[in-house]
Amino acid sequence: MRKISHFIDGKIYTNSKLETSPVFNPATGEQIAEVELADTETTKLAINSSVKAQVTWSKTTPIARSRILSKYKDLLIKNHENLAKAVSQEHGKTIPDAKGSVQRGIEVVEFAIGIPELLKGDHSANVGTNVDSFNMRQPIGVCAGITPFNFPAMVPMWMYPVAIACGNTFVLKPSEKDPTCPIMLAELAIEAGFPKGVLNVVNGNKVSVDALLEDQNVKAISFVGSSPVAEYIYHTGTKNNKRVQALGGAKNHMIVMPDADIAKTTDAIIGSAFGSAGERCMAISVAVCVGKETSEKLKENLLKETAKLKVGPYTDENSDYGPLNTKAHYEKVLNYISIGEKEGAKLIMDGRKIKLQGYENGYFLGPCIFDDVKPNMAIYKEEIFGPVLSIVNVEKYNEALKLVDDHELGNGAAIFTKSGNIAKHFTENAQAGMVGVNVPIPVPVAYHSFGGWKKSLYGDHAMHGPEGVRFYTKLKTATITWVEDNAGPEFTLPVLS
Ligand code: NAD
Repeated sequence: MRKISHFIDGKIYTNSKLETSPVFNPATGEQIAEVELADTETTKLAINSSVKAQVTWSKTTPIARSRILSKYKDLLIKNHENLAKAVSQEHGKTIPDAKGSVQRGIEVVEFAIGIPELLKGDHSANVGTNVDSFNMRQPIGVCAGITPFNFPAMVPMWMYPVAIACGNTFVLKPSEKDPTCPIMLAELAIEAGFPKGVLNVVNGNKVSVDALLEDQNVKAISFVGSSPVAEYIYHTGTKNNKRVQALGGAKNHMIVMPDADIAKTTDAIIGSAFGSAGERCMAISVAVCVGKETSEKLKENLLKETAKLKVGPYTDENSDYGPLNTKAHYEKVLNYISIGEKEGAKLIMDGRKIKLQGYENGYFLGPCIFDDVKPNMAIYKEEIFGPVLSIVNVEKYNEALKLVDDHELGNGAAIFTKSGNIAKHFTENAQAGMVGVNVPIPVPVAYHSFGGWKKSLYGDHAMHGPEGVRFYTKLKTATITWVEDNAGPEFTLPVLS
């Protein structure tokens, strides 16, 4: 059985005494590897390696760091295909989807290459007579990242390229469900020329997360995952005096106005609700139809077009989306479908009947659509994280907006309309961190910042872009005067008349 261990101090670190956890191919249900779970001591080895590396790395000039990042970007591009394959094999998503996610990560590296410019401070001359003031942003030290299963390459790359560019060192604790790709990312970092210890990877579960949360050498924690764990990470990390950004779950609404182009809206819903089996934090999981006619037209088109989707393994290039990631998660999603039926929502498309020859043990679920979902139902309130769309029907735009605003999760929200007035009102007022107008998955590009509101983000900073640089640096402001100049009479300043 292939074993996946850790990457500590510039090389693979393995310890046969550590507990292991199975890694599956979700398309077949077969175990394909086992991953070592770091204990506290192993996690400390990684932290100590990063502490040591921090001393020189923080003093390495931003332009030198940028040059290594540039080589890293080239290596990521060269290995794009291999990285995507590693993602698909353990996550289950299609190759084009996996490639797209790796590309998003590479774009954060491209952003981080601009670090000399990004770290430039403000300077004010003569804040007093002969007194100047300027600020600088300095590294915070060892940072840690804890990441979810759904984007094993992209989400880690939201974090460590920016952290490292800012002069910090980093310990990554990826998801134990698909741990191969993060190790590959660390190996490429060494090949690019990052000194050992600048990026360490420990695989593990709560034990290693708690070791990171408790260790006083770790100064900042970036987390992406479910909201209950995000809340735990935020409270424990801040209690231990760390800076914490903890991104949680999502229930992203798309409001469909009566003037929306139904064909384009249908395409957008299909891609965003069912793509990657709905295992995206920016997936649309609720469509809010404004008006009876909108609802009828949309449902008719949606049922017709969704029926054309092909669910299958990543090895079949005709697959539109793959299996859910684990058996436990598959069962959880199935359970939500039963709950929805019991709650009285109408299951107008039932993907549970899907059977794939040769993949009978895979965690495949066809698209499911619930109509007449009400805000008090569990399938509306809770994140399902599968290919399950809820349709809520309302009469007015204001009711639709209220649904977005009242939901406890506020990652993304979108509206489909041709009205400029409605679009502007929605953009300004919707209570969500990322909003889209006629864009179903409004994911900010690398040089903007990614993050939700409400229980979708605990902490003050979103990830990557300018917010990422702020999170991974401490602000220092210097106030300087040179009134006592002892350099000698030849350096005396001319008296200005
Ligand atoms: P998860 O919360 O179960 O796990 C995330 C990470 O936390 C993993 O590394 C895991 O090992 C660790 N972890 C799990 N339980 C823990 C505990 N009790 N204590 C300490 N650490 C723990 O999330 P997941 O199932 O891997 O990922 C799916 C979730 O991530 C969904 O809720 C999804 O919305 C969310 N997500 C959010 C964003 C975002 O940007 N907001 C992006 C991607 C995924």
